[in-house]
Amino acid sequence: MPLPIRPELAGLKPYGAPQLNVAARLNVNENPYSPPPTVVDAIASAARKAASGMNRYPDRDFLALRRDLAAYLSSESRVDHAEPRNIWAANGSNEVMLHLHQAFGGPGRTALTFAPTYSMYPEYARDTSTEWVTVDRNEDFTLDLDAAREAIAEHQPSLVIVASPNNPTGTAVSLAEVRALLDAAALVPGGCVVVVDEAYAEFRRPGVPSAATLVPAYENLAVSRTMSKAFAFAGGRLGYLLAHERLIDALRIVRLPYHLSAVTQAVARAAIAHHKALQAQVDEIRAERDDTVDWLRAQGFTVADSDANFVFFGKFEDRNRVFQGLLDQGVLIRATGPEGWLRVSIGTAEEMDMFRSALLKVTR
Ligand SMILES: *Cc1c(COP(=O)(O)O)cnc(C)c1O
Repeated sequence: MPLPIRPELAGLKPYGAPQLNVAARLNVNENPYSPPPTVVDAIASAARKAASGMNRYPDRDFLALRRDLAAYLSSESRVDHAEPRNIWAANGSNEVMLHLHQAFGGPGRTALTFAPTYSMYPEYARDTSTEWVTVDRNEDFTLDLDAAREAIAEHQPSLVIVASPNNPTGTAVSLAEVRALLDAAALVPGGCVVVVDEAYAEFRRPGVPSAATLVPAYENLAVSRTMSKAFAFAGGRLGYLLAHERLIDALRIVRLPYHLSAVTQAVARAAIAHHKALQAQVDEIRAERDDTVDWLRAQGFTVADSDANFVFFGKFEDRNRVFQGLLDQGVLIRATGPEGWLRVSIGTAEEMDMFRSALLKVTR
């Protein structure tokens, strides 16, 4: 007897980049530096404390964690009004995004985004039976605002999602561009939530603003962040979002009760308390990123400007050959986005050395 799987899921494979134990793992934009011993101790003792209360359900509203995240955002992005009631969190920003789709998407509704972009976006839409529409970016991966306005007017989405810095291209949007999207969204009769996915915010170049500063002015703007990248906390699974409290209230309806475990809440708080130590290498990673862009350009490759901890470069007649040639030398990167392009996450100085010499070997 066949299983009654939803027809749109039949024959699909689960999403996920390869997890291979090679010398240089530069394929999922992790922070390459493991937490320093003092932070490991703080995380371990937070987990130990949580263990003694494990017979009870955790705080469903994770208020202490929301307070800590609000304080962190206020200091990192100079947001004036980040209060705990403006913060949402879940198991990775992937789950935050799913909550957004559960609350604001659904059958008969549309989510609109800007291609090429994060490969999980169509999956949240599919899983919530939300229509998924893309607007092509310009040749240099910046937003085509005229096309965006036209598409928003045509499709009347209930969700507009823009990653900034964008994955896999590294492209950030300006506040003027976010405002233009918000202006177009304001014309959608049923209302439209604009989501700026700032998973890589901490890596942006000087002078590149965060949309978090616009949240006090727009009730329909949500800015999503994660502890997975700059925070060196991908294994902790904690993503969060800043928005007006009415928007947060809608997300509270769709979350499962106690979705953030006592351990998750405790260890995330310990990590936030040590954010300076955990992010100690962010400047180093940004410098390594800028060097990688310069080096690739000097070799004659086409490289997208990057405000993230990865670099998107090309163009290759056969990118899979280059990808495999690097992997054969122990360097795992990512073949994603438009044909001909590859994405490399910024690793340690040694890993980037390996990447450079492996790439020269494959392409010369
Ligand atoms: C890595 C990434 C995330 C983070 O996902 P988590 O679930 O928080 O680990 C979110 N958005 C984009 C665009 C990303 O590349």
